[in-house]
Amino acid sequence: MNYRHAYHAGNFADVLKHATLSLVIEHLKKKETAFRVIDTHAGTGRYDLFSVEADRTQEWRDGIGKLLDADLPDNIAGILAPYLNVVKDCNAGTQSLAHYPGSPLLAKMLLRQQDRMIANELHPTDVEELRALFSKDKQVKITALNGWTALKAFLPPKERRGVVLIDPPFEESGERERLVAALKECVRRFATGAVLLWYPIKAIEPINIMQKQIASLEVPKILNAQLFLHQPKDASRLNGTGLTILNPPFALDEKLRTLLPFLSSRLGHAGSAGWTLEWLTQKD
Ligand code: SAM
Repeated sequence: MNYRHAYHAGNFADVLKHATLSLVIEHLKKKETAFRVIDTHAGTGRYDLFSVEADRTQEWRDGIGKLLDADLPDNIAGILAPYLNVVKDCNAGTQSLAHYPGSPLLAKMLLRQQDRMIANELHPTDVEELRALFSKDKQVKITALNGWTALKAFLPPKERRGVVLIDPPFEESGERERLVAALKECVRRFATGAVLLWYPIKAIEPINIMQKQIASLEVPKILNAQLFLHQPKDASRLNGTGLTILNPPFALDEKLRTLLPFLSSRLGHAGSAGWTLEWLTQKD
């Protein structure tokens, strides 16, 4: 387990993932009934953007750094508001952007009193940071299982409503196959839940294969969003980021159709950035 999210927190991939997670959670809040967030690969929950790790890559400067204090068109500001408001709250009292919320902190800051969260993280030091962050918080349960085991252990949630974020580091071979299997497991145990699967895009061929495998599950309502910083020609670098979304809430596709071209032009490289949004299986 070499991957440390501290090097990447707040980068362009986090922006798309966290903005989308915020939209899903905001939609769940439209009903009074409680829901649960299950984060299988949670990280530490809070990142110092001036840490040695973040400073080494400076990736956040080309992600959240280009959005937080920027003038945004009204429609984009509306879509990003739940996400950006949490990032602002995390930086209350500081002169400039210094902290970034990882997925469990972002989710927790959007929850209502009746909602619950399970954040799971396997890395021994990261999970201790996560425990410390939520030590006094009764709404949040922290576990240190293998993320793929956590899925089986925690689905379905007793609320029967909620969202599952599956965000592995992709440092082991077979991670894409595990994602497809995880999606199948989610459908089997929690067919009505929203599920967000994250993946990195280096070469495009393995991604196309994964999407075909997902489509062949013949599960309806699977949306796929991709944001490219560059065309995926050089497979040695991170060219883009992808999210596969099972049971996206109503109108999420329209919001992403507005957001993705904006993020592509604001965060991507001129002339070679891009985005895609498609239903891998039927919408209704
Ligand atoms: N979800 C976090 C966020 O958005 O802020 C970022 C998570 S990061 C991409 C992936 C995390 O998975 C790392 O913190 C890593 O330590 C953890 N991890 C690696 N292998 C794991 C496994 N088998 N089970 C659970 N967590 C694992």
